Amino acid sequence: MQRSHLSLIRVGGMGSGTARCFCSESKPCKRSRVQFDEAEYSGEKACLFDCLPDDIVLSILCYLSASADCPSDLVSVMKTCKRMNRLGKNPLVLEKATLKSISIRVENWSPPAHKFLKRCVRAGNVEACYLLGMIECYCLGLRGDGCHTHTRKGLSYLLRASRRGHAAATYSLAVIFFNGTGMGKSQENLSTGFSLCQRATQLGYVDAMRELGHCLQDGYGVAKDVPRGRRLLLDANTRELAVSRSSRPVASAAALPGEGSSRSEYCYLHSDFGCDVPAPEVHPANRFMAEWFQTRQNLGESVRLCANANCSRPETRRFEFRVCSMCALACYCSRACQAVHWKTVHSAACTAAIAARRVRIFNNALARFE
Ligand SMILES: [Zn+2]
Ligand SMILES: [Zn+2]
Ligand SMILES: [Zn+2]
Ligand SMILES: [Zn+2]
Repeated sequence: MQRSHLSLIRVGGMGSGTARCFCSESKPCKRSRVQFDEAEYSGEKACLFDCLPDDIVLSILCYLSASADCPSDLVSVMKTCKRMNRLGKNPLVLEKATLKSISIRVENWSPPAHKFLKRCVRAGNVEACYLLGMIECYCLGLRGDGCHTHTRKGLSYLLRASRRGHAAATYSLAVIFFNGTGMGKSQENLSTGFSLCQRATQLGYVDAMRELGHCLQDGYGVAKDVPRGRRLLLDANTRELAVSRSSRPVASAAALPGEGSSRSEYCYLHSDFGCDVPAPEVHPANRFMAEWFQTRQNLGESVRLCANANCSRPETRRFEFRVCSMCALACYCSRACQAVHWKTVHSAACTAAIAARRVRIFNNALARFE
């Protein structure tokens, strides 16, 4: 006899294993901790879900996965009993899982977590394709042992997401081809990167617009076309401002250019570096990379990351990334990241770094005379 327990209430943290059964309210479950142990279940009263046929429970689980907002929502259900585990793994459920419900943190990364994401990818979940693609390409692929299985897998996942219209995945592929990540730089890769960037621009991805705008302005990977480049940068700024305005309450939204701000004579929309808007929330894929390499760096490995904190892509070979030409300290995966980072952080830090270096050179010169 199979017994199942469904927890539709949120439990703290993934893997904490506390799922309370709320399905039979007149006779609440005595045990709050549920495990797979068969013997553990014997003698307990069956709950209401046991009377429901699989397809009904499945549709409830689909609803749950489509609205879940943390990984423990799904995982705790799958941990309740064998039946829920079987139904929770159904491709119909995994295909609908939200980005938040599959956004596993580095501290929870484990072979089962990897397997779970692979299952979501197989079920056709586009967000999972992007997330696992980035993890395979940048985190697991970067082992330096000459084994590119993870990189290849990651690329195929990103490609799958891109084919289904995922803008961020398309842009990520563009960055990979621009930098020749795992394949080396070539003119062929550069033009592939350029057409991918164009595709991501058509999908309305701000970073891609900015990257393409700078490429056209500088004639990088494509014939120089300054007016078209300027127009794309303007488009990127406009879209960024619109997104920031629609996603935040009016009171905290950035002032429109010329809207009573002290620098009203300056129009952000024409800036090379984007509008003066608060940085968007970091995407789970980027957060994963940042945390992953933070842990590695604590262990003494040195990997150079893109200085843009909203990106944190790592270099996969030495001198892969572009470096700030003024201070030669900050490095970037792309022009888009450099532009955004200059606007938000680096313009001040760079001047300070240059000033510090001048002082150092001056002091060294003085010391030689003494
Ligand atoms: Zn139950
Ligand atoms: Zn129960
Ligand atoms: Zn600099
Ligand atoms: Zn970057």
